[in-house]
Formats: sequence, structure tokens, C-alpha cells
Amino acid sequence: MRVLCVSAHPDDIEFSCSGSVAAWTDAGDEVTYCIVTDGSTGTADAELAGSKLAQIRRDETLEAASIVGVTDVRFLDYRDGYVEYTFDLRRDIARVFRDVKPHRLMALDPGPILGDWFVNHPDHRAVGQATLDVTVTAGTTPGHFPELLEEGYEPWRGLRETYVMGPAGGSHGVDITATIDRKIAALQAHRSQINWDVGTVMRRAAQMAGQSHGYAFAETFRVLPTMEARFADD
Ligand SMILES: [Zn+2]
Repeated sequence: MRVLCVSAHPDDIEFSCSGSVAAWTDAGDEVTYCIVTDGSTGTADAELAGSKLAQIRRDETLEAASIVGVTDVRFLDYRDGYVEYTFDLRRDIARVFRDVKPHRLMALDPGPILGDWFVNHPDHRAVGQATLDVTVTAGTTPGHFPELLEEGYEPWRGLRETYVMGPAGGSHGVDITATIDRKIAALQAHRSQINWDVGTVMRRAAQMAGQSHGYAFAETFRVLPTMEARFADD
């Protein structure tokens, strides 16, 4: 199984799905991260913002990825906080999608307000929607962005399912009891972002998520099968 996780910011994957990623890499799945922005504005320190922070966050991302068994990390280097839904964005994600050829795609929830409490970041909304759209347009269809064909990236139609990830979760639970410590360690690798007790908060969140699934700790997602998978014969 090949898995592609597309996020807006360097730490989105750690919050949303890195416990699941660790479980999947343990099972032998290949996981690739695609980080759309450079994370360069994620600070209250105006002196640090910009290329200096972008380099720090790139290093933190690679460290966090390696903790959960991921070495293939693609950076698209869009400016943090300024992502808009454009054809360039959709093409850039489609290029990675066609290159990685995932069976499972992890996409940010593009909704404006998640779970009646979370105001979704505009970068998440744009990246999440573009990621989902790639599965029905530019990732799968040769007539969309024919320049990708010229670059050597054939459309990929082998996707089986898309996991929508974010603070609202979903009805599908993944057991992360064996990997929650690595999820927290991966979060803590984002030292420029996290100076609070992320372990306590994430354990509590994962415990609550696990309750209805019978797991001590879980991450939950909305899972969208592809049309082919939904109606396939067993
Ligand atoms: Zn984010």
C-alpha cells in the first residue's frame, strides 16, 4: 500500500494522522508527505519569520517524519498563510499524486468550520479542496494539465480511498495505541511551534476518539472510497 499525505503546514500531519502513519509504516506501507507551504509565518517573533523559520521548519518536518518511518517528504514551498485555490496549486498537487501513485490519499478537511468549534485555517481549506479535486480531475485525467504528461507524469487511477483528516475527525477509527508515543514525539519535533504540553492534550484527544471504537487511543477520519471501490464486487 502506498499512502500520500497532503498538508498545508509542516505540523498538520502530526496533529491529524501521524499515529496512523506510524502504524502503517510498521505494517510495511510506504508513506509520502507533501507539505504545501514553507511554514515561514508560524511565529509570533517577527525577526524569525521568513526564510530563517522556513529552514528550521523543514528540518523539524524531516525529523518528525522519520520518527514515524517516513523518509519521502516533498516540499512545495508556497508562502505560509497566503495559499489560495489556484490552478497552479491543483497542478502541483496533481504532479505529486501522479508521481507517488497512492492507494490511500490523506487530505485536509476543507470545511470552513470543523466540529462546531474549529475555525479552519484558510491554507487548510485551499489545500484540502485542491487535494480532493485532484482525485476527480488533474490526478486521474490526461486532458487536465497536459503539460504534466509532457513532464512524464501519467494519470493515476489506482486510488482506492481518501481519508479526510482534521479536528472534526470522522466515523472511521484507526487504532494508535501502539504508536501514540511516536505521534507525540513527532509533534514535539516541531519545537518552533509547540512550547506547551502537547502530550497531555493529544493523549486526551486520542482517548476520546478511541472510545466509540474500543481502542485505548485512536485517530478518526472520514473515509471516502472511490466510485470503483464502492461498487466493486468482493
Ligand atoms: Zn496547519
